[in-house]
Amino acid sequence: MTDQSFRGPSRRALLGAGVAAAAALAAACASEPAAAPATTTTAPSDTTLRWWGNNGWEIRAGARTVLIDPWLTRFRTGTYTPQGADPRSPLSVDTALIDSYVDSGQLRADHILVTHGHYDHLTDVPYLAQRTGATVLGTETHLNLMAALGAPENQLALVTGGEQLDFDGYSIRVLRSLHSEVGTRTQIAYPGTRPGYPATKPPRPQVISDLVEGGTLAYQVTAGGRSVLNFGGSNYIESELAGLRPDVVLLPTGGARVHDYVPRLLTVLGHPRLVLPTHWDDFDYPLGEPARDAGGLEPLRKAVAAADPHATFRVPAHLEVVTL
Ligand SMILES: [Zn+2]
Repeated sequence: MTDQSFRGPSRRALLGAGVAAAAALAAACASEPAAAPATTTTAPSDTTLRWWGNNGWEIRAGARTVLIDPWLTRFRTGTYTPQGADPRSPLSVDTALIDSYVDSGQLRADHILVTHGHYDHLTDVPYLAQRTGATVLGTETHLNLMAALGAPENQLALVTGGEQLDFDGYSIRVLRSLHSEVGTRTQIAYPGTRPGYPATKPPRPQVISDLVEGGTLAYQVTAGGRSVLNFGGSNYIESELAGLRPDVVLLPTGGARVHDYVPRLLTVLGHPRLVLPTHWDDFDYPLGEPARDAGGLEPLRKAVAAADPHATFRVPAHLEVVTL
């Protein structure tokens, strides 16, 4: 069910398409038979999104940059093979790759937001924090794991969910959330916590199963007049989201075991105009190659279309910049 009352011209007008996004948005809008024309009177914001693969996102407005779950290294784990990930897959960080983006000025950060502790979210963050000087937000477990991986501890900031943090040029709302469920008995992959931060640091994580989930957070980042809501796992706490009206939702594929995963979410959020899939590409392949669908993209596209035929479902390429 959709509730058209949540979606008025102002929300549509808020999302002018930028140069990079214009063609795809126009194509997507062309298939909407009775949609109002996209506004031509509201200038695009200077807020941009860039997809760094998996759940890695950059939100940039003016001189300010926020990264979520940046993971550029993408070492091989077999996660999307029939056998699944090998839990003994060693952790590694491609410092040369990260250096190339940081040194060329393409990658920077004022804040890095961590949704949970798993390898495909957290592994690169300690080195990225060191290279960018960014402040890193996460739970006690996330901070403990990152400290054990060598993150500069004076850049780690503890959050629990519920915080509304205001900075010069942007704000961050931290939301309690839930990780994807993967089975009938094992609720989540590599469950667990590493409490005691900062007094009790765990041994340095060596393999992917050492990076436990440690609680899951979602984040709404508001910058340049645009709000972007990100989930790092395909689940959420509906009551945490009540009243939020993001312009853009970054929505993970999956969620098959979550009751009414897509329609319930889009309804509680007041039907955001723009939905971008996240966490859908097979990360056994490098960021420099085109994203390969691990299998969840089309089911998500259909679920979004069924839940809200007026929503724009936009699929950026690796490293593509989308102007909001
Ligand atoms: Zn995970």
